[in-house]
Amino acid sequence: MRYDPQKLAARFAPDFTWGVATASYQIEGATRADGRGPSIWDAFANMPGRVFDGHNGDIACDHYNRWEEDLDLIEALGIGAYRFSIAWPRIFPQGRGAVNEAGLDFYDRLIDGLVARNIKVFPTLYHWDLPLALAGYGGWTDRDTAEAFADYTTAVVRRLGDRMDALATLNEPWCSTYLGHWIGKHAPGERNIDAALAAVHVTNLAHGLGVQAARAERADLPMGTVLNAQSIYPATDSAADKAAAERAFQFNNGVFFDPLFKGCYPDQLMAAVGDSLRVQEGDLDIIQQPLDWWGFNYYFPATVRQTTSASERAGLTGVGAMGKFQSDQDAASAFLDLQSVPSSDSNIRTDIGWEIVPEGIAHLLHQVYDRYDLPPVYITENGACYNDGPDADGVINDQVRLDYIGAHLEVLADATDAGIPLKGYFAWSLMDNFEWAEGYKMRFGIVHGARDAEQHVKITALALPQQGSYRGEIQQGRYLQ
Ligand code: BGC
Repeated sequence: MRYDPQKLAARFAPDFTWGVATASYQIEGATRADGRGPSIWDAFANMPGRVFDGHNGDIACDHYNRWEEDLDLIEALGIGAYRFSIAWPRIFPQGRGAVNEAGLDFYDRLIDGLVARNIKVFPTLYHWDLPLALAGYGGWTDRDTAEAFADYTTAVVRRLGDRMDALATLNEPWCSTYLGHWIGKHAPGERNIDAALAAVHVTNLAHGLGVQAARAERADLPMGTVLNAQSIYPATDSAADKAAAERAFQFNNGVFFDPLFKGCYPDQLMAAVGDSLRVQEGDLDIIQQPLDWWGFNYYFPATVRQTTSASERAGLTGVGAMGKFQSDQDAASAFLDLQSVPSSDSNIRTDIGWEIVPEGIAHLLHQVYDRYDLPPVYITENGACYNDGPDADGVINDQVRLDYIGAHLEVLADATDAGIPLKGYFAWSLMDNFEWAEGYKMRFGIVHGARDAEQHVKITALALPQQGSYRGEIQQGRYLQ
């Protein structure tokens, strides 16, 4: 289906925020510049067998050196907001201790550059690049990491907070905890449910302490967090499948939403694995800070059903939207006791293998606004992986990506009409970048990044809706490695 960007834009309020998103390790490169310390992703990516074809973030999109061009590009595209992340190991190379002013200088320049171009500033404090030194003490499983995060927040907000439009504490704690500590696909590559659940709680604690620290510096800074909440459907209307979907909700979403917005962990989950969370007295009061907004990253939903046989139970266990993976029979798998099944009959997938179910974005929004007392929401990430290269004229036909984005925006416009307080939409991502364990193989950019040739190509961004108009052709060449 073809979408008219201008008609689509007209379905949203005139002050709706249209943005693009990136993350530090995925684009910056310059991993040894100006005193930056190593992060857990440097270590993980440089360990053979972890990332596709040995790719790493050493150079990435070279954004650290080419940030002005990148901001020019955002401006030229007519995009009004930029979501990026700050690299903790640039600010505290050892995770804590003395501030590395040169690291703050980089973001100071970047933010000034955004302000000068009239682009709204939406930083995230943590998008997975934990200083490696902290891993030596247990990383996210160590409560001191939450304290270190608060100190890092203070340093950032003190120097840069005056020019931020909104600040997020964490990006997708589901990934940094479960994917990194249980499934082992992301740094630090642990495969241990106790570590994962301990990390969940320390991460939630870091969020609470971070919000307090930011507000102590600047009480008026709009604070939020970014969750890849999972849109989970029961496979059938049976009571067993609905109960399975509820368990999946608690495990994947409730474990973050409940403490942040209700000051507790979900009952059933607590009964099953509560000890592993290692909650201490007073923690939940710290975690439940009033927020000004929250961010929702959505790509695809999950559909789950109750397992039906012992062999299923002993084998693959789904944790929800990330599909199936091999797990030992730990307490969490026993609690979940479910299987992931496809969410739609269609065999069409994006190039990373993900289903396309635009309705899932609204399904989750309605569900969480029914369950919780939530502030307004931004879609802080949404987008699709398509790896098509340029044709003979150097042009990429990116219609499929546009269709994906357009279809999701239609659903979001309906959700807004139905009362969801949606304030903005950030496309993931400004440019092709280091797609974590997939390396540079998987391309989410609305700007194409060529690793091996000086390709200058047209981009999806030309047709993103932005306040009713978009600019002419932009050309951008980019070496990724
Ligand atoms: C993350 C991004 C990532 C994107 C596509 C999100 O999980 O926040 O860093 O590149 O999804 O996988």
